Amino acid sequence: MKGIYVHIPFCTRKCKYCDFASYAGKMRLADAYIDALENEAHIYRGAEADTVFVGGGTPSLLSAERIKRVCKICFENFNIADNYEFTMEINPGTIDDDKIRAMLSGGVNRASVGVQSFCGAELNAIGRIHDAETAYNTVYALSKNGFSNINIDIMTGLPSQSMESLKETLTVAVSLPVTHISAYSLIIEDGTEMEREYSSGKIILPDEDTDREMYAYTSDFLAKHGFSRYEISNFAKEGFECAHNIKYWTGEEYIGLGAAAHSYDGNARYSNSIGIEEYISDNKRDVIYLSEKDKISEFMITGLRMEKGISADDFYRLFGKNIEDIFGNELNKFINMNLIRYKNGLYSLTPRGIDVSNSVLCEFV
Ligand code: SF4
Repeated sequence: MKGIYVHIPFCTRKCKYCDFASYAGKMRLADAYIDALENEAHIYRGAEADTVFVGGGTPSLLSAERIKRVCKICFENFNIADNYEFTMEINPGTIDDDKIRAMLSGGVNRASVGVQSFCGAELNAIGRIHDAETAYNTVYALSKNGFSNINIDIMTGLPSQSMESLKETLTVAVSLPVTHISAYSLIIEDGTEMEREYSSGKIILPDEDTDREMYAYTSDFLAKHGFSRYEISNFAKEGFECAHNIKYWTGEEYIGLGAAAHSYDGNARYSNSIGIEEYISDNKRDVIYLSEKDKISEFMITGLRMEKGISADDFYRLFGKNIEDIFGNELNKFINMNLIRYKNGLYSLTPRGIDVSNSVLCEFV
């Protein structure tokens, strides 16, 4: 079964750290964009899928009618399994009860809310359009209207963030009716407003040690409150791991619809035109054929980010080779350094390995 990703590239305003394919001030193109999504979905008509993820951008910026139409396009064009997971991303400040009901009646059964922080000063510093109270109320509105599977995204390493303010954010997070928490470190991307502010000294970020401490604290705190880490940045209550994202991390096939969306068919990765207008008028799909070496590297990097790690048997099943014949030196080196462990046929990062995961994963490229 494949995963379906649908990209909705509209946003109210660009957040300062964002380098995603998302655009402010282009909602006039929404209907033409959804027409183009429908045309692209026809190409894959009948494909079997058990996960759908409508992300962005800000899908919740669409009207209730447009939300229903996007859902209908998915159910009409794909053969979606009965036990499906259908996630839609929501940004606080762009949602109301009508839209939530449109999502539910359209078949969405998992909501993912971009909270980022429950500290107003931090939200301001990164240019979010909402305050902490709106984020809090958004989660309750989703729950009250019938969503029982809700993720919230939070961020660490934010300008002016302290251990105290992180603790406050986490305390509020676990008090909410949520099943999943994604916690990512802020990354300063080239060309963003945040990069300009950082380079000019206008903002100061927590140093590397504090960032690491924040990650360790987050991980422990969430574990104590029933959210187990199943991927470096993702924590879930039992049975609520995100099935769609697990497909990316385990090398399964997916179909991406929309501007800048990617698809993967087991051999090649396809990427759509990035701009909204280009996607609507003449979507040009680029193709990158993946060599076996590329596929092996991706399998290692994404697999090692998972808490359960990489199965030597899966490696053999996929690539017809023993993992130890390809990466024996690297694996032994990291096992001796206590950065990787081997247990019951699985290689996984140790807590120390997670701390320096970027350097460890680099060696499998
Ligand atoms: S809401 Fe998300 S996609 Fe839109 S600008 Fe902010 S970070 Fe980027």
